[in-house]
Amino acid sequence: MPSKSAAAAAVEEKKKSRSAIPEPGLYIDGKWVHSSGRGLFETRNPATGDVLARFPLATPEDVKRAVEAAKRAFPGWKATPAPKRGEMLLRAAQIMRQRKEELGRLVSEEMGKVIAEGRGDVQEAIDFLEYIAGEGRRLLGETTPSELKEKFCLTVRQPVGVVGLITPWNFPVAIPVWKSGAALISGCTMVFKPASLTPLCAARLVEIYHDAGIPPGVINLVTGSGGTVGDAIANHPDIKAVSFTGGTIAGRDVYEKAARRLAACELELGGKNPQMVMEDANLDLALEGVLFGAFGTAGQRCTATSRLIVHEKVYDEMVSRLVKKAQGLRLGNPVDPKSDVGPVSSEDQVRTVMNYIDIGKREGAKLLTGGRRLTGKEHAGGYYIEPTIFEAKHGMRITKEEIFGPVLSVIKVRDFDEAIRVANDVDYGLSSSIYTRDINRAFKAMDALDVGICYINAPTIGAEVHLPFGGTKNTGNGKREAGTVAVDEFTEWKTVFVDYSNRLQKAQIDPR
Ligand code: NAP
Repeated sequence: MPSKSAAAAAVEEKKKSRSAIPEPGLYIDGKWVHSSGRGLFETRNPATGDVLARFPLATPEDVKRAVEAAKRAFPGWKATPAPKRGEMLLRAAQIMRQRKEELGRLVSEEMGKVIAEGRGDVQEAIDFLEYIAGEGRRLLGETTPSELKEKFCLTVRQPVGVVGLITPWNFPVAIPVWKSGAALISGCTMVFKPASLTPLCAARLVEIYHDAGIPPGVINLVTGSGGTVGDAIANHPDIKAVSFTGGTIAGRDVYEKAARRLAACELELGGKNPQMVMEDANLDLALEGVLFGAFGTAGQRCTATSRLIVHEKVYDEMVSRLVKKAQGLRLGNPVDPKSDVGPVSSEDQVRTVMNYIDIGKREGAKLLTGGRRLTGKEHAGGYYIEPTIFEAKHGMRITKEEIFGPVLSVIKVRDFDEAIRVANDVDYGLSSSIYTRDINRAFKAMDALDVGICYINAPTIGAEVHLPFGGTKNTGNGKREAGTVAVDEFTEWKTVFVDYSNRLQKAQIDPR
């Protein structure tokens, strides 16, 4: 039994290590503040289980407070010239560049993607901030002739007001920046609710905006559960638009709530993305592509390749080479540069993915490799699932439903037409890819694929920030993020008519 003083020292040590865990709080009106409630939740490293920070389980009261701050800040932010807003975003990009290594590592530690991808997540955010800062000198409207004499017509973009941002954990820096950068340049103020698995990345982002000079109240961070904080955002009468990225179930719920009060809502949801490999493809390239597309970020990208559709003539060669390569991938701590694949993000994710692996087996799909959770010494405390490949028949649940993990279904097809039919026969329409050397086929695929993003001779992942991003069918509600259209969800058009004729002119009525 330890002596009294040893026990006291142990308690002291425990207290110290407890207090060493950061508790940043909520960021409202330019300050880090306490929640009106007392609940806290922990964010953990999915590779080790270590606690990284504790955050408030915010209450609907906290959301109200954040909305009030955003409402107060709105007139001043709207009146700030857009090029000045752009300068602040450029400053944020510069700070992020200086802190890239630290932030990239945090992405790996909090979310679990390998360090090169952690840095990539931050780089995507930097790229977007630099790109969208320039939008401050455009925000283009139109001028057009009037049907009447001495009359001038133009359109201007107006910020919609206070907006709500709800984000997922798989791109914990890039996705919040896609949303917040576009909202800020548009002149909106906001309440930002990050995923409960990655609030520390969100807090670092908010710090950077603060240091870049974004005024108090313009951005407010409220952490906590989707059911409470997300719900309060979706229902709040003063939030004029909600921008949501996540799963289809939560997305539909948010959309319904926003619709009931006629608020705008932008949804970026799931995917079931196919890579097609035709008989004339460069198989080496197609192989590299599918390994990266299916097992990068442990398959937890909305654009991850989850179906490999292969022409029967090259099927055996492609599949046997793929299985060998997948078996060579090193599964390990994501901050170790030697790791090819990191853990999945949480115990819940493990359950979901392992459940789909069971479903695949029960449906009669042939497990070609993987399929196990690794719990040995090297992987203790983490959520590691082997890169898994099934030989499947189109129509099985594993070929139709989003799994969001390192699980790939390989499907054999007779020809190009069947490949397109199979590719399109799912409820999602985010990304797609075809490997072929036939230019006519490439263009036919581009036409025929019912998706938002189409790659020719490249994997299903690889978005660039200056192009629109989003999908068809259950992947969203017809909107896009990034690119020149990024500001659409945060602005409304105002049409202006200037009559300098000094007389009443009546459109459609005056004699022509
Ligand atoms: P999720 O469970 O739907 O959560 C997304 C966000 O919504 C989180 O902040 C979550 O909060 C919140 N939320 C959950 N239920 C809510 C509700 N009823 N009302 C309001 N907010 C709610 O998704 P995830 O697991 O974080 O992310 C994975 C999904 O995101 C996948 O389906 C993936 O395909 C999709 N995704 C899509 C894109 C795209 O651009 N199309 C990009 C990335 C990811 P909590 O964290 O507190 O639960």
